Amino acid sequence: MKVAIVGGGVGGLTLALSLDAAGIHDIDIYESARRAVTAYDAQRRPATSAVVLANREVGPLRVLNIVEERAPDGFTNLDDVIGPHELEQIASSYKSTAGFDPAVLNNRPSLSVRALGITPRGSPRP
Ligand SMILES: Cc1cc2nc3c(=O)[nH]c(=O)nc-3n(C[C@H](O)[C@H](O)[C@H](O)COP(=O)(O)OP(=O)(O)OC[C@H]3O[C@@H](n4cnc5c(N)ncnc54)[C@H](O)[C@@H]3O)c2cc1C
Repeated sequence: MKVAIVGGGVGGLTLALSLDAAGIHDIDIYESARRAVTAYDAQRRPATSAVVLANREVGPLRVLNIVEERAPDGFTNLDDVIGPHELEQIASSYKSTAGFDPAVLNNRPSLSVRALGITPRGSPRP
């Protein structure tokens, strides 16, 4: 049996998974917002990947690794293991990678929604 599902939202995708589990594998999903999703993915994926990879090297995880390395048997005073200046450097490097460095945020325009050249369904084409 061949099935066509119109709409790749949570309902359509759940239906596709359920049909697949029931042994119906010949399924086509038609999704009108595919261009928007693809454009959003292309825009967000590089920045998101950078943050995910950076999370393994900087920020809170980096601090935990440094403390564990320098004080494997524990410590009484954190300042003896890692000083405020080093903590500040790690935090500021993390902020700039994650995109919430105050200086950068205060000097860029506000976020807004761009049309991405997509004509909403039902509206007349330009
Ligand atoms: C702002 C907002 C916040 C929400 N927050 C939550 C929440 O926190 N938790 C929660 O459980 N629910 C939430 N909901 C509700 C949830 O999003 C919906 O209940 C759910 O998405 C409905 O799923 P659906 O598959 O029926 O429809 P949709 O998710 O709307 O999927 C329908 C899909 O069909 C596509 N489509 C439509 N017409 C066509 C066509 N002619 N040809 C091809 N494709 C077409 C659309 O592009 C869309 O992708 C929220 C809804 C909104 C609007």
